[in-house]
Amino acid sequence: MNYHRASWLCSAISRKHGTACLRYYSQGTRNTAKAKAQSKIAHIDAERHFSPALVDSFHRKHDYLRISLTERCNLRCFYCMPSEGVELSPADHILTDDEIIRLANLFVRSGVTKIRLTGGEPTVRKGLDGIIRRLNELRPLGLESIGMTTNGIALHRRLPSYVENGLTHLNLSLDTLDPFKFEIMTRRPGHDAVLRSLDVALHSPGLRSVKLNVVVVKGLNDSEVLDFVRLTADKNISVRFIEFMPFTGNKWDKAKMIPSSQLLEIVSGEYPSIIRAPDELNDTARSWKIPGHVGSLGFISSMSDHFCSSCNRLRLTADGQIKVCLFDAKEVSLRDEMRRGASDAELLNVIGLAVQGKQEKHAGMEDIDVITNRPMILIGGTQPRKSRVRSLPRLPAHAYFLDDTLLLPHLHRRWSSSSSQSDLRLTHIGSDGRPCMVDVGNKDVTKRSATASGRIYIPRSAYNLVTGSGDADSTDKTIQKARSKGDVMTVAQLAAIMGCKRTSDLIPLCHPLQISNVSVTLTPECGVSPVPPPGDQGGLEYSIKCTATVACEGKTGVEMEALTAVSVGLLTVWDMLKAVAGKEMKIGEIIVTHKTGGKSGDFTRDA
Ligand code: SAM
Ligand code: SF4
Repeated sequence: MNYHRASWLCSAISRKHGTACLRYYSQGTRNTAKAKAQSKIAHIDAERHFSPALVDSFHRKHDYLRISLTERCNLRCFYCMPSEGVELSPADHILTDDEIIRLANLFVRSGVTKIRLTGGEPTVRKGLDGIIRRLNELRPLGLESIGMTTNGIALHRRLPSYVENGLTHLNLSLDTLDPFKFEIMTRRPGHDAVLRSLDVALHSPGLRSVKLNVVVVKGLNDSEVLDFVRLTADKNISVRFIEFMPFTGNKWDKAKMIPSSQLLEIVSGEYPSIIRAPDELNDTARSWKIPGHVGSLGFISSMSDHFCSSCNRLRLTADGQIKVCLFDAKEVSLRDEMRRGASDAELLNVIGLAVQGKQEKHAGMEDIDVITNRPMILIGGTQPRKSRVRSLPRLPAHAYFLDDTLLLPHLHRRWSSSSSQSDLRLTHIGSDGRPCMVDVGNKDVTKRSATASGRIYIPRSAYNLVTGSGDADSTDKTIQKARSKGDVMTVAQLAAIMGCKRTSDLIPLCHPLQISNVSVTLTPECGVSPVPPPGDQGGLEYSIKCTATVACEGKTGVEMEALTAVSVGLLTVWDMLKAVAGKEMKIGEIIVTHKTGGKSGDFTRDA
């Protein structure tokens, strides 16, 4: 029995009896609390059956089960979901509600006291209310808490019902307080909805704890750490900073990960009075508190300082595999056993074998198996999925690092427009000579599309950095700095899409349009230079071509949207590379290459 367990129990007991929560102790109170808690736990442990199947060869008791309810998600967080997507299991491979409850029942009867629902995104699973209600019925068997980790997108209206059915603990994932960055990190809109969910959660008396999970990624959201800390001033929330972890397809790089120790230094620089707070039993977070703040902080250092020795978790994936360690690719299918007719005793035997196979600790940061292990979305979600990757709505930037180098002689430009160029009237100037919007009220709604492209010319060193070739392994500080900004192509691609959607906010007289699709590609090119470029580049010039195709059904065309997408995409590449190439880059050749629909007809122009 350790101190943390004792202190946790004391707080649990005080909660149960409606007394104030005993979270912080003087040394004297701590010793008394520890002694009382020790005797109470010894009593409970003696009373309660704990199956040897849930104890591993390092004597760790596994009383915490995380159940993934689905592989689906309404966000696409870059660190969780590979950019090329994941293949979803066929529907009949996913555990049914009855199978989930049967396994939960077995685990609880064997000693599990905490269940957490996760995913994918658990709130997208149909019948979630019913699952929570049926889990709640396991309380008499020993279940003490039902938690859920969610992105909060579809939560605010449903949360009261989940709590009514038995949900007690909520972890909300939110990595940024900036709506724009939110779209970059999650590749989807929805920041407002998450904030609303947070508000509802904080006003739900039935919830015993509300935590905010923040994955910190260098160069993306690390500048917001203190903003998150400020949230704890008047909100009863625990903000937990999580180290960025490597999973298949998430392009993890040590340089993008900020160790918890460094984050703590940043926080204590601003709040020197910060104190260590008691951790919850077996909690993965090291807790801290700023005196005077209502909430608290936690640091989850899965990478820099793992907590394997006290790990008490087992995971059940949505397709019914038991996983004994997040970072171990080994899995055993409980679904197949159940569907083959296994009895509970046989299932427990299989679980026991898996638990016995649990390693003492996971591999070091650099050696974690990201090849055969699943992406996070499928862990929280048996087979390695590598060969089963399918393209979801395309995010092709990922491919550039693999094979996309094109050797192109630059084409000369040629018009092949079918439209007349004789009408030189400026459509945005009214009869009084002043700027105005064009009234499109009488125009027909038609299908329209436009493609635009442009290039950013960059020096070879930056090109190698972006494509992962040549001297990309350089230890040069500026190169590392640029690389730490993340995946240049992916960020530029997302920025282009977001820029496109905001065209009417940026270009004063543009109409807001209902865009039905935006697709953006960035392609590294290496061509023979017409004029010798600066430096020794062997007569070659290096560029990244950005192409955007936008579609809509509307009364006016989408050329401006396509041009904005390309411009923002290229500017983002500039921003990402300026540390290594700021003095040499140039952007140009931004043109509309193709257009369909509308009265002025179709045209094509070579880029
Ligand atoms: N969709 C839900 C959500 O986002 O909260 C539940 C599933 S998600 C896989 C569970 C947690 O894992 C989230 O808090 C998420 O931020 C975290 N996570 C996912 N990928 C991660 C990574 N590469 N490194 C650190 N944490 C990660
Ligand atoms: Fe979805 Fe959660 Fe993964 Fe984000 S972290 S993609 S919300 S499962």
